[in-house]
Amino acid sequence: MRRVNASNRARLAPIALGLSLFAAAALLAPSASAYCRTTSCKGVGTGARCVPVRPTDCGVELFWSKPCVGFSMQKDASAQIDLEDATQIFLEAFQKWTDADCGDGKHPRIKVVNLGPVACNVHEYNKKAGNANVILFHDKVWPHAGAGSTLALTTVTYNVETGEIYDADMELNGANVEFTTGIDNVLYDLPSIAAHETGHFLGMSHSADGTATMFADYMPGSMELRSLENDDIDGICAAYPPGDPIPAECDPTPRRGFETECSPPPIVAEDGSCCATAPGSPRSAGTSALAALALALGLAAKRRAVRARP
Ligand SMILES: [Zn+2]
Repeated sequence: MRRVNASNRARLAPIALGLSLFAAAALLAPSASAYCRTTSCKGVGTGARCVPVRPTDCGVELFWSKPCVGFSMQKDASAQIDLEDATQIFLEAFQKWTDADCGDGKHPRIKVVNLGPVACNVHEYNKKAGNANVILFHDKVWPHAGAGSTLALTTVTYNVETGEIYDADMELNGANVEFTTGIDNVLYDLPSIAAHETGHFLGMSHSADGTATMFADYMPGSMELRSLENDDIDGICAAYPPGDPIPAECDPTPRRGFETECSPPPIVAEDGSCCATAPGSPRSAGTSALAALALALGLAAKRRAVRARP
């Protein structure tokens, strides 16, 4: 999630175009949607596939292969929001997606389980040992680009051949952002941000529907993203179609086991290459490759402000 600035507006221009096209298409096909699923575009980088299809769509849709997925809060949470409150907010955010009404009283065939807090306080995916799908706050320093313009970031690590998600971590910029959780004096509404970022966690990308929780823009003070819109529901129901009940014994353990501590520092090869995942980087061995994908919720106050006016 980013604060708006001049360069972000330029970056959002294609999304505005997509919105206009969608509005025209919607007149012809009332059931048309706008949601997008995050994909791996092999050799091109990362991308998305949307409904309706866009010319730029490419790649394989990302998905969790098991119908139950674990997540963990980092145990220190934030000076702004304690562990208990943060855990509850993210549990409720996931539940909005997993309880979505796909019709006939059916729901997406995916559930998200709280595996309990972890000590590790960085985003990482360990290819050789246990993992955690961690949600963490950076209260002191935002360790990525755009410290003054980024609110939150979800990074998904996946198999670029199959789209299977191996790991998803969510980072919140507590160092530069004042989050609020209540319904009064709302600043940067954490339940709204959580609803959007948990969508990324589950494989959703930004939607062209300006009312959707997965729309890239957010207006400070708004709680609009807290509730899913039809477009979001169409997307999650397409990603995880309703099916047989999820077995009670479904195991939400992360890939290669549940690990609460950070993995040891990676061994840096003599040529300087490192074993960490990076966008589009091939795995050191094996037929499939891994790539990490960073997704942020854009913050473009203007569009929502305009929409809110009578
Ligand atoms: Zn986003």
